[in-house]
Amino acid sequence: AKGDGRRTYRFFEAGMDQRAKARRSLELELRQAISDGSLETHYQPVVNIEDGKISSCEALLRWRHPERGMISPAEFIPIAEESGLINELGQWVLNAACAEAATWPDHVRVAVNVSPVQFRSQSLALNVAAALAASGLPASRLELEITEAVLIRDDAALDALHQLRKLGVRIALDDFGTGYSSLSYLQRFPFDKIKIDRSFVRDIAGPGASSSIVQAVVNIAAASDMMTTAEGVETEQQRNLLYILGCNEMQGYLFSPAIPAVEVRRLLLTHSGR
Ligand code: C2E
Ligand code: CA
Ligand code: CA
Ligand code: CA
Repeated sequence: AKGDGRRTYRFFEAGMDQRAKARRSLELELRQAISDGSLETHYQPVVNIEDGKISSCEALLRWRHPERGMISPAEFIPIAEESGLINELGQWVLNAACAEAATWPDHVRVAVNVSPVQFRSQSLALNVAAALAASGLPASRLELEITEAVLIRDDAALDALHQLRKLGVRIALDDFGTGYSSLSYLQRFPFDKIKIDRSFVRDIAGPGASSSIVQAVVNIAAASDMMTTAEGVETEQQRNLLYILGCNEMQGYLFSPAIPAVEVRRLLLTHSGR
């Protein structure tokens, strides 16, 4: 039995080692991908829930790996965060998204996800200002999406948020409802927008509390001059319920998934109206 235990332990160790190796090689490949063009930003339209007009598009990273095909950001963003590569990657997305949005109609904003790790760098606001200057995009057309994990950290992050706000960019609270004690975070910073997480939207027609929670969030947002965007809207029924509950915007496969930049440009020319 003793021998078995040791063997199991060794096996476990070897497994860990392999996983660490796989991560390490993915990290190196990701570093390479930033410069060799296998990373792309796609854009998912966000529409006004009432009239269906596109108000903004969210930049979402796509990695076309030469052997492994498309790798989801849910897989490679955590690796980039652990290795610190997210700072370079984040700046790359910011530059690409601002440059792209500068070619869109004036009333369409671009939303960019910012990792909590990027808030640890002292230069986030400077980097954002640099992306705006290089692209010529007005600050008011850039929206940064952050998760409440940023606010859990410390007051330095809160300072950074105020610096960003001073630049004139908009700040959205992403994945709302998925973390801890979310409501108290709404008091810590005057967000422009709350994005209601897909998990609530998915269950909104069900017997659970989701629709009451969405209703409460919409009420709080309205009382504090914040917009609400529902994520992951896939059905007409979900859209109708969200509309009745007073949600302002929606994003999801019902309207469009994230699509390549060229396709977004075409869509905006034909669809955005105004
Ligand atoms: P997120 O910011 O919550 O982005 C929304 C995710 O939901 C995207 O997944 C999007 O493709 C997906 N989605 C949109 N509509 C629907 C729908 O109707 N149904 C379903 N089932 N899914 C929908 P994606 O593109 O795989 O991105 C996953 C996550 O990776 C993002 O979640 C975000 O946290 C992170 N991410 C993506 N790009 C970046 C980036 O440039 N920087 C950072 N820091 N994170 C990023
Ligand atoms: Ca997001
Ligand atoms: Ca989200
Ligand atoms: Ca999410």
